[in-house]
Amino acid sequence: MIRRHAQLAVLDGRVAADVLIDIDDGGITAVTRDAPAPPDAERLTGLTLPGFANTHSHAFHRALRGRTHDGTSTFWTWREKMYAVAERLDPDSYLALARAVYAEMALAGICCVGEFHYLHHRPDGTPYDDANAMSAALAQAADEAGIRITLLDTCYLTGGIGEPLSGVQRGFGDGDADGWIRRVAAFQPVGRHAKMGAAVHSVRAVPAGQIPTVSRWAGEQGWPLHVHLSEQRGENDACDHAYGKTPTRLLADAGALGPRTVAVHAVHLRRDDIELLGDSGAGICLCPTTERDLADGIAPARALADAGCPLSVGSDSHAMIDPLIEARSIELDERLRSEIRGNFTSAALLDAATATGHAALGWPGAGRIAPGAPADLVTVDLDGVRLAGIGADDSTALDGVVYAGTAADVRQVMVGGREVVRDGVHLLVDDVPGELRRAIGRVTT
Ligand SMILES: [Zn+2]
Repeated sequence: MIRRHAQLAVLDGRVAADVLIDIDDGGITAVTRDAPAPPDAERLTGLTLPGFANTHSHAFHRALRGRTHDGTSTFWTWREKMYAVAERLDPDSYLALARAVYAEMALAGICCVGEFHYLHHRPDGTPYDDANAMSAALAQAADEAGIRITLLDTCYLTGGIGEPLSGVQRGFGDGDADGWIRRVAAFQPVGRHAKMGAAVHSVRAVPAGQIPTVSRWAGEQGWPLHVHLSEQRGENDACDHAYGKTPTRLLADAGALGPRTVAVHAVHLRRDDIELLGDSGAGICLCPTTERDLADGIAPARALADAGCPLSVGSDSHAMIDPLIEARSIELDERLRSEIRGNFTSAALLDAATATGHAALGWPGAGRIAPGAPADLVTVDLDGVRLAGIGADDSTALDGVVYAGTAADVRQVMVGGREVVRDGVHLLVDDVPGELRRAIGRVTT
């Protein structure tokens, strides 16, 4: 058993002082407030938060950072640059890249990633000797970076509605939903830090007639089912043209909306779409930095939450990896849209980045500092330049960290009882910037 004594810690959405945390076999066994520091407990100085979950990631998009932000591009020209990176990846180079990206996530306090994975085969569409070699590389990358992963194996069948896969997209496909099932069913990630989930890439990439097969099978496995939804107006227009309905209605009619479903982005929704999502209990993953970067728009976060959708956050394209910034962006973007402040409490924003995110990835109970939860602890330094002077009482410490803290303020990270980051240094990956530089150099021009 190991013990940690937190100067301050967030328990049930409130800041508590002198919190003794007992940990055994990777899980929290006891939490005691106002406890004197025992000699055998290591002190955590600062504010200790539950571990973050990054609900939506495409690890290879990290290679695009700095290369796609110029003013002339659109979502669709960005996609062409993204394909150019995809074309250069194989299981070996993806392992190196993803390991470095997941190590960057660990440094930001991310304890669990949802990897929305569709780079299944060689760019010409031929499978590797092991048809799940890319999945195995991602699971290994997370393991080596010290974080948990939910591998959201993504069904991707068409290049657009009614269009065949072309170019590098051929490596994304499995023929049809049954082919996708045959491949995915043959893969089992190793270890207790990895789980499987399913994804329908989008209504652009999976025909309406195939979605029920994916959805039903994922349900039989008890897996979460993620799907990109209405990120761009162009998707809604194409869906209306082909099917005469919105993407949300299409998913509902295909039986793909339910409590295990997580819709990613959900930007361009009608009132009845919001009701369909809320009534089904589907979660919503917002990726505010990516949605800004790609000029997607602002998701109706408050309306979705009011309708009954739990909200989580993801770094998606990895234009930036910072769960605190994603979390506060839910509220700040809503303020810009509504001209109203105070739409979400800091505790609710933190919850999106922690407990709700973990639940969306099939780890219910994680993302809390409470007995029975995995021992995921993220300690934020309150003495650095951004957070010095914010105060240590309940509301100021939490508001200060949620509204002004960044990944750079994360000093200690424990994932499942294992110390992964100490004093801002990754303990398992020697040189994270160097690994990023080398891995990105292999797949970019
Ligand atoms: Zn995405």
